[in-house]
Amino acid sequence: MSTEYDAVIGLEIHVQLSTKTKMFCGCELSFGDEPNVHTCPICLAHPGVLPVPNQTAFEYALKIGAALDCELSPVSTFDRKNYFYPDNPKAYQITQAATPFAIDGRLGQVRIHHAHLEEDAAKTIHTGGAGRIKGSDASLVDFNRGGTPLVEIVTEPDLRSGSEVREWGQLLRATIKQLGVSDVNMEEGSLRCDANISIRPVGSETLGTKTELKNMNSFRFIERGIEAEIARQKEVIASGGAVEQETLHFDPSTGELHSLRSKEEAHDYRYLPEPDLVPVVPTQAMLEEALKLPELPAARAARYEGIGVGEQAALLLSFEVDWAEYFEGVLAADDSIEPRVAANWVTGEFAAELRKQDDQPLAESKVDPASLAKLIGLVASKKISHGAGKTVLEAIVADGSDPEAVVAEQGLEQISDSGELEQIVIQAIEDNPKPAEQVRSGNEKAIGALVGAVMKATQGRADGGEVNRLLRQHLGL
Ligand code: ADP
Ligand code: ZN
Ligand code: MG
Repeated sequence: MSTEYDAVIGLEIHVQLSTKTKMFCGCELSFGDEPNVHTCPICLAHPGVLPVPNQTAFEYALKIGAALDCELSPVSTFDRKNYFYPDNPKAYQITQAATPFAIDGRLGQVRIHHAHLEEDAAKTIHTGGAGRIKGSDASLVDFNRGGTPLVEIVTEPDLRSGSEVREWGQLLRATIKQLGVSDVNMEEGSLRCDANISIRPVGSETLGTKTELKNMNSFRFIERGIEAEIARQKEVIASGGAVEQETLHFDPSTGELHSLRSKEEAHDYRYLPEPDLVPVVPTQAMLEEALKLPELPAARAARYEGIGVGEQAALLLSFEVDWAEYFEGVLAADDSIEPRVAANWVTGEFAAELRKQDDQPLAESKVDPASLAKLIGLVASKKISHGAGKTVLEAIVADGSDPEAVVAEQGLEQISDSGELEQIVIQAIEDNPKPAEQVRSGNEKAIGALVGAVMKATQGRADGGEVNRLLRQHLGL
């Protein structure tokens, strides 16, 4: 009998804070500039310079800690993490190890072990193929990024699959985005995620040996990388081997995992207290400010589900404040519209139509919430069919016209006279003897062709339910 295994995943997430200046010097932070223009003796580690902490970075960090429901430390200290690499001119990184600014939090189903502040390394650019130096190829260093304030969030190993990691990661990103303290852009590297992965027999409480999957630039890739790594570990164990502690890279283009370093090469960072920085004691005012939180995505999603919105739509709406506000605008415009129905229109047909028409951002849409509410009301009250509703939507997204005017101009009112509809149904059955016969002889799926014919004849102006009822009646079902 073969043993079943569960996956166990813990995350280490780096969030670049969007302060004006770096963590310990006054250099400007900006992404995408010419290399090495935002540097000074401090972030280039000239001898004898001293770091000066950025107060705004501390305030932003506290906000993140509060949003993750952490305990905020009354005193927090800095440490040196020693390692030698060209992206790290001091040969140590200033970080928080002994007493981070926030501990013991939670977001959704995941416990937060702690969050700490640190400075980012510079950016190395390998000009050779596949990140290696070959022949005359070179490695270049851009120090613009060196010294950027980072918050590292370390979770407990509470996640169980790649898709859980993706969903939770999206919730974390949305939460931090709403705080306005980071761009949380994975492609630009302002949000980076390492996943620690192990497997263990179902029912076991002990943790297996973990591997670490480094730094991918989208939650989709992380999801795929994790699934690949779980499969690899299961295979290793099934073939009688043991998982070895190592750091891996996942190549989304090939689906392959590569080892970056093994345990033997693992770093010994020799942490020691940073002698150049005194402990930081946030003031009462700083702590109070951090705890003033808006309604965050997790709470908003729960509130929407509480008023009947489906889970997926509730999450989609909650992740972007402007979508949430739009949705609430629709409800406010017409309180007879069911929240579930409004949410489906907003996140479904409406969002799709914006994408279809030049990928319009919501903020630039010509359709205000009251207009969309009017359209939803027309469909809900059966004045127009759902299909006609989509035609109206296309028109109002294109030029911002009034839904009722579009209905009148294009003659889209639902056929309410069931005698008229019945004639069309009878005609459709006559014109399509083959599917009609198939339905009569028990193949109910064939009715789709007849529904299609009626919809075509009425230009989508018929109520789908009514068409079905009449067709079934006339086919003797
Ligand atoms: P390390 O000492 O190797 O840095 P930590 O205990 O500090 O490990 O944990 C680092 C991250 O790895 C955390 O997110 C934690 O939840 C996760 N983690 C620790 N052990 C495991 C394990 N066996 N399987 C999966 N994740 C783990
Ligand atoms: Zn500097
Ligand atoms: Mg650790």
